[in-house]
Amino acid sequence: TVITRKFFIGGNHKLHGNKESLTTLIKSLNNATFPSEDIVELVISPPIIYLETAQSLIGPRIQVAAQNCYSESKGAFTGEISAEMVKDLGCQWVILGHSERRRVFGESSAVIAKKIEHAMQVGLSVIFCIGELLVDREANKTESILAEQLSDIVKSVPDWRRLVIAYEPVWAIGTGVVATPKQTQDAHQFIRKWLATNVSEQVAKETRIIYGGSVNATNCVDLSKETDVDGFLLGFAALVADDFTTIVSYA
Ligand code: PGA
Repeated sequence: TVITRKFFIGGNHKLHGNKESLTTLIKSLNNATFPSEDIVELVISPPIIYLETAQSLIGPRIQVAAQNCYSESKGAFTGEISAEMVKDLGCQWVILGHSERRRVFGESSAVIAKKIEHAMQVGLSVIFCIGELLVDREANKTESILAEQLSDIVKSVPDWRRLVIAYEPVWAIGTGVVATPKQTQDAHQFIRKWLATNVSEQVAKETRIIYGGSVNATNCVDLSKETDVDGFLLGFAALVADDFTTIVSYA
């Protein structure tokens, strides 16, 4: 059988933009020429408060992700939003486990596992982020960190077909220091092997493993040639329509 992992490009806007800039960005993306939807899946993730704006503006080629959501449906959780609410707006995706959630907001693996399980039960698809710190890499602990982050959620994934794994080395996020194609391929290959051993061969073959961390319209060319790189999670490059479109064109 032929295994096709459709290329996946996500744009994580983080805490950037406003209604006007988002509208301009989406209009440009709507006018861009992208490879067909059999080849590449496209998702943008503006701040949660603009999800409805994004949903109302996107053309048929683009999907929308929330940058986070809580693990409970409702209740006394001031400031939180639920997976049900994300779904209610028509969004299909949520990013969970981003290193900024883990480090700046102190989200533990246990919290992230609960969020993944709940979001999937509600019907969302999940972009799940993992990655090592520079000290981990320098201490040769990259693989053990990745294995640990995967182990922590493995029992909490009801549907692997709706999970995309984003390998995002923390030292590469927002730093301009991109992982080399070899570092990326090695990490992705390790993740795929881990899935084969700890979930199933089938899941290992089918799961999209995307790379994030200082991807731009130039370095994406070589990264996208690596066997186990199935797409990208973009930060800064996702805010510029031309960069996003150029990166998609290498899919
Ligand atoms: P960056 O962010 O492309 O700006 O490094 C990537 C991410 O955090 O997803």
